[in-house]
Amino acid sequence: MDIAAGLALLAQATGIVKDLRAIDKSFDVALLKSQMAELYGTLADVKIALSDARETIHEKERKIKELGDKVAALTSGEACPICNEGRMKITASGPHPTFGRVGVLERTLKCDKCGHTEKHLYDPSGLTKR
Ligand SMILES: [Zn+2]
Repeated sequence: MDIAAGLALLAQATGIVKDLRAIDKSFDVALLKSQMAELYGTLADVKIALSDARETIHEKERKIKELGDKVAALTSGEACPICNEGRMKITASGPHPTFGRVGVLERTLKCDKCGHTEKHLYDPSGLTKR
Protein backbone atom coordinates (compact mmCIF):
# COMPACT_ATOMS: atom_id res chain seq x y z
CA MET A 1 0.00 0.00 0.00
CA ASP A 2 1.14 3.56 -0.62
CA ILE A 3 0.31 7.05 0.65
CA ALA A 4 -2.61 7.41 -1.82
CA ALA A 5 -4.19 4.20 -0.48
CA GLY A 6 -3.60 5.44 3.09
CA LEU A 7 -5.31 8.74 2.34
CA ALA A 8 -8.27 6.98 0.67
CA LEU A 9 -8.66 4.79 3.76
CA LEU A 10 -8.45 7.82 6.01
CA ALA A 11 -11.25 9.48 4.01
CA GLN A 12 -13.27 6.28 4.45
CA ALA A 13 -12.63 6.37 8.23
CA THR A 14 -13.73 10.00 8.37
CA GLY A 15 -16.95 9.02 6.57
CA ILE A 16 -17.60 6.32 9.18
CA VAL A 17 -17.11 8.86 12.01
CA LYS A 18 -19.74 11.10 10.33
CA ASP A 19 -22.14 8.13 10.22
CA LEU A 20 -21.42 7.48 13.93
CA ARG A 21 -22.39 11.05 14.78
CA ALA A 22 -25.72 10.53 13.02
CA ILE A 23 -26.28 7.28 14.96
CA ASP A 24 -25.53 9.09 18.21
CA LYS A 25 -28.75 11.07 17.75
CA SER A 26 -30.99 8.04 17.25
CA PHE A 27 -28.84 5.73 19.46
CA ASP A 28 -29.04 2.40 17.67
CA VAL A 29 -26.59 0.18 19.65
CA ALA A 30 -26.33 -2.61 17.06
CA LEU A 31 -25.59 -0.16 14.25
CA LEU A 32 -23.16 1.74 16.48
CA LYS A 33 -21.24 -1.47 17.21
CA SER A 34 -21.01 -2.49 13.57
CA GLN A 35 -19.87 1.01 12.58
CA MET A 36 -17.25 1.00 15.35
CA ALA A 37 -15.93 -2.38 14.11
CA GLU A 38 -15.71 -0.99 10.58
CA LEU A 39 -13.89 2.08 11.88
CA TYR A 40 -11.29 0.01 13.72
CA GLY A 41 -10.73 -2.13 10.63
CA THR A 42 -10.27 0.91 8.42
CA LEU A 43 -7.89 2.56 10.88
CA ALA A 44 -5.82 -0.65 11.03
CA ASP A 45 -5.54 -0.52 7.22
CA VAL A 46 -4.49 3.14 7.43
CA LYS A 47 -1.74 2.13 9.86
CA ILE A 48 -0.51 -0.56 7.44
CA ALA A 49 -0.61 1.85 4.48
CA LEU A 50 1.36 4.50 6.37
CA SER A 51 4.01 2.09 7.59
CA ASP A 52 4.38 0.71 4.04
CA ALA A 53 4.74 4.29 2.80
CA ARG A 54 7.38 4.97 5.47
CA GLU A 55 9.30 1.90 4.30
CA THR A 56 9.09 3.06 0.67
CA ILE A 57 10.39 6.51 1.64
CA HIS A 58 13.32 4.99 3.57
CA GLU A 59 14.14 2.76 0.61
CA LYS A 60 14.12 5.79 -1.72
CA GLU A 61 16.32 7.78 0.67
CA ARG A 62 18.82 4.89 0.70
CA LYS A 63 18.75 4.79 -3.11
CA ILE A 64 19.25 8.58 -3.37
CA LYS A 65 22.25 8.39 -1.02
CA GLU A 66 23.70 5.49 -3.01
CA LEU A 67 23.29 7.42 -6.28
CA GLY A 68 24.75 10.56 -4.68
CA ASP A 69 27.83 8.60 -3.60
CA LYS A 70 28.14 7.15 -7.09
CA VAL A 71 27.89 10.62 -8.69
CA ALA A 72 30.54 11.95 -6.28
CA ALA A 73 32.87 9.05 -7.18
CA LEU A 74 32.28 9.46 -10.90
CA THR A 75 32.80 13.22 -10.94
CA SER A 76 36.08 13.14 -8.99
CA GLY A 77 38.57 12.36 -11.72
CA GLU A 78 38.18 10.90 -15.17
CA ALA A 79 36.96 7.31 -15.76
CA CYS A 80 39.62 4.81 -16.84
CA PRO A 81 39.24 4.04 -20.60
CA ILE A 82 40.67 0.53 -20.10
CA CYS A 83 38.82 -1.01 -17.16
CA ASN A 84 35.91 1.52 -16.97
CA GLU A 85 35.83 1.09 -13.19
CA GLY A 86 38.83 2.97 -11.87
CA ARG A 87 39.40 6.72 -11.78
CA MET A 88 42.36 8.37 -13.48
CA LYS A 89 44.38 10.25 -10.85
CA ILE A 90 47.19 12.66 -11.62
CA THR A 91 50.50 11.16 -10.47
CA ALA A 92 52.90 13.60 -12.13
CA SER A 93 52.77 17.04 -13.72
CA GLY A 94 55.50 18.94 -15.53
CA PRO A 95 56.26 21.10 -18.56
CA HIS A 96 55.13 19.56 -21.87
CA PRO A 97 58.15 18.40 -23.98
CA THR A 98 57.11 20.55 -26.97
CA PHE A 99 54.88 23.31 -25.56
CA GLY A 100 56.30 23.52 -22.04
CA ARG A 101 58.03 26.84 -22.75
CA VAL A 102 54.66 28.54 -23.36
CA GLY A 103 53.14 27.25 -20.11
CA VAL A 104 51.59 24.00 -21.35
CA LEU A 105 51.85 21.06 -18.96
CA GLU A 106 52.03 17.34 -19.42
CA ARG A 107 50.26 15.35 -16.75
CA THR A 108 50.61 11.66 -16.08
CA LEU A 109 47.41 9.98 -14.96
CA LYS A 110 47.19 6.54 -13.43
CA CYS A 111 44.12 4.38 -12.97
CA ASP A 112 43.53 3.61 -9.30
CA LYS A 113 42.06 0.22 -10.23
CA CYS A 114 44.04 -1.42 -13.06
CA GLY A 115 47.16 0.77 -13.03
CA HIS A 116 46.83 1.95 -16.65
CA THR A 117 48.75 5.20 -17.23
CA GLU A 118 48.28 7.98 -19.77
CA LYS A 119 49.99 11.28 -20.49
CA HIS A 120 47.63 14.21 -21.01
CA LEU A 121 48.42 17.62 -22.34
CA TYR A 122 47.15 20.27 -19.92
CA ASP A 123 46.73 23.66 -21.48
CA PRO A 124 45.06 26.01 -18.99
CA SER A 125 45.30 29.09 -21.22
CA GLY A 126 44.27 27.30 -24.44
CA LEU A 127 47.50 28.25 -26.30
CA THR A 128 47.62 25.06 -28.40
CA LYS A 129 44.04 25.63 -29.64
CA ARG A 130 44.72 29.05 -31.17
ZN1 LIG B 1 41.62 1.15 -15.15
